[in-house]
Amino acid sequence: MKIVVANNEDEVSTIASSMIVEEIKNKSDLVLGLATGDTPLRTYKKLIESYQKGLVSFSKVETFNLDEYVGLSKDDVNSYNYYMHHNLFDHIDIRSENVHLLCGESNDFYTVASDYDKMINESNGIDLQVLGIGMNGHIGFNEPGSSLLLDTHVTDLDEKTLNQNAKFFGSIDKMPKQAITMGLGTIMKAKKIVLLVTGKRKASIIAQFLRAHEINTNNPASTLLLHNNLTIILDKEAAEIYIKEKKMNANENIN
Ligand code: PGA
Repeated sequence: MKIVVANNEDEVSTIASSMIVEEIKNKSDLVLGLATGDTPLRTYKKLIESYQKGLVSFSKVETFNLDEYVGLSKDDVNSYNYYMHHNLFDHIDIRSENVHLLCGESNDFYTVASDYDKMINESNGIDLQVLGIGMNGHIGFNEPGSSLLLDTHVTDLDEKTLNQNAKFFGSIDKMPKQAITMGLGTIMKAKKIVLLVTGKRKASIIAQFLRAHEINTNNPASTLLLHNNLTIILDKEAAEIYIKEKKMNANENIN
């Protein structure tokens, strides 16, 4: 595991977007796993800038997103379909047939889920998976619980997730209570993973993750400890507790 402590959120996104651009330069048909939420927004902005400057082309890149709210249409402003088009896909040269997003509306989520896993397998798996982490340690919408599922599945959203994301909907009452998410088995099969963590509010959960010596289903992110090519990029605020615990100077850790 490689841990990079950046000075601030902007630097996190500069490092992350450069890493993605480099991966695409090395493999033009990269299979990219993408996340939503606040954390990767600046990274996507910088990817758009790199594309506009002619530094990268997404014309052969294939993407798979982590998750979607159950019950939201792809045009709903709170759907992750909308988010991805609005914040990235509409501004780069990616081909629509290479973009894979989970569908939030279906009478048969079992088929939606198994088709998604099949498509990822047929693409030879994800080369680089971008992740954020929830306040409860969730990855995608793999929520804490007594077990963690490997394949794409529908899940009930945890109370902390509802509280974390209610701001986008106005209130918890207006928010979907379920989501469809890539499972941890698929995520762990990604050849490389980059986990982005920013802000004070994530300091406690990421310190908990970094000090962990066990895989605990109550902290789904702990499964990432088993991955052999994981990079965590944190800003100083998110790294605060970790740095305190390690009694090290944050500046020494920037690379
Ligand atoms: P955030 O969400 O980027 O909005 O903090 C991350 C997550 O819940 O996985």
